[in-house]
Amino acid sequence: MGEIERLREMIGSAKRIVAFTGAGISTESGIPDFRSPGGIWTKYQPIYFDDFMSSEEMRQESWRRKFATEGTLLKAEPNAGHRALTKLVEQGRMTAIITQNIDGLHQRSGVPDSKVIELHGNTTYATCLDCGHRHELEQIRKSFQDEDRLPLCAKCEGIVKTATISFGQAMPEIPMARAQDATMTCDLFIVLGSSLVVYPAAGFPGMAKRRGAKLVILNREPTDQDDSADMVIHAEIGPTLSRAVGVN
Ligand code: NAD
Ligand code: ZN
Repeated sequence: MGEIERLREMIGSAKRIVAFTGAGISTESGIPDFRSPGGIWTKYQPIYFDDFMSSEEMRQESWRRKFATEGTLLKAEPNAGHRALTKLVEQGRMTAIITQNIDGLHQRSGVPDSKVIELHGNTTYATCLDCGHRHELEQIRKSFQDEDRLPLCAKCEGIVKTATISFGQAMPEIPMARAQDATMTCDLFIVLGSSLVVYPAAGFPGMAKRRGAKLVILNREPTDQDDSADMVIHAEIGPTLSRAVGVN
C-alpha cells in the first residue's frame, strides 16, 4: 500500500483527529516559513519580548518589519492543505486544529474559531499588553508611517503589540489548556509542516503519543520527532493531504 493510501486509511478509521500545523502548511499560500532556505530567518533575527518591552528602538524595528512584510500576508489565500483540514472539521471528525501559525488562514478557510487553537497568537491585529484591548492594524500603520508614531493603547496608554507570542513571552494560558485537552483526548494526531523544535508547542506530539494516539508527521524534510511517529511522510502538504482526504 502506498503512503497516501495508508494515510487515508488512518484518517478514515480515526474518530477524534487533531491537526498540529506549523509554518509549512502556509508556504503553498506564499508565506515563507522560518527555517527553510530563503525563510524569514535568513533575513531577520527574532526580536525577544523583553527587548520589545524595554526598547523603543526595538518597537520601531518590530513595527517596521511588520509593515514591510504584511503585503505577503494580505495577499495569501488558504491552500489545498487548509481546505483538506476544513473538510475534516466539517465532517465532525477533526476535534481541533492546534496551530503555531499567526496568519489566520485556518479561520479564513472556514474553520470556526472554536476549533482553531492559536498557540502563538495572530498577526492580523494588535492588542494592548496591559489591558488586552484590541487595536486594528490600519490605524496603527497610518500613524506609524505618516507620523512616525508608535501605537499606545486608546484605553489605558499601554504598549500595543501585534497579537502574537514573541520569543521570551509567556504562552497564552487558555489556548495552552485547550491544546492539552484536545491532545489528550484524540486518537490520531497529525503534524503538518512543523520543524518541531519550538517548545513548549513541540511537546504536544509526544503528549498525544503517550496517551495512546497514533502520530503522523507530514513534512517535506525530516523532523526531530520522526522516530517516535507511527507514520512519517516526506512530501508537500497540499497535494498529499488533499489526496488523502479527497478534496481539491
Ligand atoms: P518552521 O519554519 O520551523 O518549520 C516549517 C517546516 O515545514 C519545515 O520543516 C519545512 O521543511 C516544512 N515545510 C515547509 N513547506 C512545506 C510544504 N509545502 N510541505 C511540507 N513541508 C513543508 O515552522 P514552525 O515549526 O511552525 O515554527 C516556526 C514559528 O514561526 C512558529 O512558531 C510560527 O509561530 C512562526 N511562523 C508562522 C508563520 C505563519 O503564520 N504562516 C510563518 C513563519 C513563521
Ligand atoms: Zn490598554
